[in-house]
Amino acid sequence: MERNPASNQLQDSHSISLNNVMISIADNVKNVSQRIQKATKEAARSENSVQLLAVSKTRSAEALKTAIEAGLTQFGENYLQEALTKISALADYPLTWHFIGPIQSNKTRAIAENFDWIHSVDRLKIAQRLSAQRPNDKAPLNICIQVNINDEHSKSGIHLSELASLSKAISDLPNIKLRGLMTIPASSQDEPALRDSFKAMAHAFETLKQQHADIDTLSMGMSGDIEAAIAEGSTMVRVGTALFGSREKTDKTIR
Ligand SMILES: *Cc1c(COP(=O)(O)O)cnc(C)c1O
Repeated sequence: MERNPASNQLQDSHSISLNNVMISIADNVKNVSQRIQKATKEAARSENSVQLLAVSKTRSAEALKTAIEAGLTQFGENYLQEALTKISALADYPLTWHFIGPIQSNKTRAIAENFDWIHSVDRLKIAQRLSAQRPNDKAPLNICIQVNINDEHSKSGIHLSELASLSKAISDLPNIKLRGLMTIPASSQDEPALRDSFKAMAHAFETLKQQHADIDTLSMGMSGDIEAAIAEGSTMVRVGTALFGSREKTDKTIR
């Protein structure tokens, strides 16, 4: 690159740091994609059997554009209002939007109208509302049931003992396609315990596949445990920090 000290001096520090952030997002997309490929290979699983969902909560539409230019098409959001702003700002791109945060009843209509996937369904009542409010001209909503695999009081999700009845009831809804399971394991676990949590999810996923058509998604693994999740059978990792850098400390959505 040509050095031009004079023009550098004219740039304000904001645009310089913004530029650096954009460049590192492109690098991070490469790094994370390589981590996924390597883990997939080491687990002797077929190429492209694990999808990357970019978790973009708290990130600007500009940051997402950089990720899109680096090849990402699937984004996960936790906060409805913030997500709607980005969905409309990026409407010209062919993207798939996933809702991954806790769902309040009064938000189901906007979620059903604007998202393609929901990973965080843990109550029949919410699934019923999503089905009833899904616009008829759109494809059925793709749903994953969230499992609270370590029975943490603070976390959403069902106990595995509830899975058979909830999955049956959800799969009967007209505008819903049940695709699989999602989990956020306890962060306090050591590696063997974390592996056991992922294994229990993989077992439940295999059982669910026997019972329902269309089951193909096990949404587990985040920035810190991509490899462990893929080794145990994840088909979709949800990655925020490793793509976009650390979030503000005020973000309390997780852990
Ligand atoms: C924020 C979030 C993630 C991403 O976590 P990172 O550690 O930043 O990769 C994944 N899943 C859910 C449900 C989240 O809320």
